[in-house]
Amino acid sequence: MAVRVGIPRALLFYLYFPMWQAFFNEIGVQVIPSGRTTKSILDDGIREALADVCVPIKLYYGHVMELKGKVDYLFIPRVVCLNGKTVYCPKFLGLPDMIKYSVDNLPPIIDVRMDSRQGRLSLLNAYSEIGRYFGADRITTIRAYLKALGVHYHFRRLLRKGWSPPEAMELLKSPGTGKAGSQTKVNLKFAVLGYPYAIYDSFISVNIVEKLRQLGVMVMTAENIHPALLALQKNCDLPKRLFWTLSDIALKAAHLLFKQGRIDGILHLTAFGCGPDSLLNKLIEMEAKKHRNVPFMTLMIDEHTGEAGMATRLEAFVDMVRRRKEAHLCQK
Ligand code: SF4
Repeated sequence: MAVRVGIPRALLFYLYFPMWQAFFNEIGVQVIPSGRTTKSILDDGIREALADVCVPIKLYYGHVMELKGKVDYLFIPRVVCLNGKTVYCPKFLGLPDMIKYSVDNLPPIIDVRMDSRQGRLSLLNAYSEIGRYFGADRITTIRAYLKALGVHYHFRRLLRKGWSPPEAMELLKSPGTGKAGSQTKVNLKFAVLGYPYAIYDSFISVNIVEKLRQLGVMVMTAENIHPALLALQKNCDLPKRLFWTLSDIALKAAHLLFKQGRIDGILHLTAFGCGPDSLLNKLIEMEAKKHRNVPFMTLMIDEHTGEAGMATRLEAFVDMVRRRKEAHLCQK
């Protein structure tokens, strides 16, 4: 029987799962992702994690608990930097240690450091280190790494075409079967900015994307924007760019979309207990004040976020934007 590696459905799962799965499969390892978030997964995470960590990290703990006892290894890489420029939030850097020293009786953790600032071959070397856990030689890991990069490239292309990460993953599994979720008559287009692991975890985000679609709103996120367009935003009028990779992307997307003014509304989904968000949300709000033609709203999620409260706020915002747009069209 093939060795089974568990990958928690949280944090970078939403951006890198297809790549990781392709790599592991190519070296003969079976990948078991944890299931979709449920109340019991969230409750497990809340029980195991420190009280003051952000809700996405609590969720990560819950998904680790879901995999405990079902797999031979857990894949929890120490992701520092993947673009040679910005780094992931400190929680990502300490993740393997946090999990290892706070949850008992876990299977061995594959804890490799991924830091592309350490040289051109650093990521390949990290994947070679993963391969060594399973006795794969250098040639096999290089071949698996190249295959994984190909899958990742294809996945990113699907995101740029407008698919969400869960939809793109479905499309990779069975091409031609992807569905862009239920959609009533669309006459508004919103951007939902924030961390992919908050937006696309339908439990913790209270299914924000699907709710907006049902209200007749086409939804885009930063993942749907070409990285070259984001790169044009440079430091977003700051003396230097934001340190944290995902905050930097969200800020750049906000600057681009506010400046373009072609979107009907922007929502920023922030996570309770997130250090980087306390700065990022202020910076996005400051940009929003310069572009009052684009309605903006912040929504905070935490472990107690209620479906009814979120739905009411979304409905009110959509209604306000729709009336505003209709009034604007009547004036023309
Ligand atoms: S960026 Fe914020 S939400 Fe994400 S892991 Fe770090 S502290 Fe948590």
